[in-house]
Amino acid sequence: MDVNNSGQRFEREDDRRWMAEAIEEARKAEAIGEVPIGAVIVRNGEVIGRGYNLRETGHDATAHAEMIAIREASQHIEAWRLLDCTLYVTLEPCPMCAGAIVQSRVKRVVYGTHDPKAGCAGTLMNLLQEPRFNHETELTSGLMQEECADLLTTFFRRLRSRRESR
Ligand SMILES: [Zn+2]
Repeated sequence: MDVNNSGQRFEREDDRRWMAEAIEEARKAEAIGEVPIGAVIVRNGEVIGRGYNLRETGHDATAHAEMIAIREASQHIEAWRLLDCTLYVTLEPCPMCAGAIVQSRVKRVVYGTHDPKAGCAGTLMNLLQEPRFNHETELTSGLMQEECADLLTTFFRRLRSRRESR
């Protein structure tokens, strides 16, 4: 079982389908040379926001997949509260994105692979489930972990070999 490695809630129906969509978003980033991280936001069985990492392209440290997806979802429903939404993201959210997730009241977060350097959904800390904040999300971690991690390891391996061959 690759889910619920830290006592979090279990995988639900359709989770894999939506994570596959987040992986598709990550591939769009990869195609333009960005670190492959993707996210989708789902409400009532429908994707209402998508995003992929655009940090280099946009010269924007805040252009993470989750931030872009949150903005799109909020525009779609014309509300800043994403109360009945689930956010799927291939990599564990960083502190900025975890903060934005709490601010936008996302109901549930499902992420693929852990981030030992910046993960704030259980690895370094857990900002998504901090009882002192006014909102806590439900959380499922490690869904399709291998696929999500492979995207990143393949990307960085290629980057290194390109640098070495110069
Ligand atoms: Zn982030």
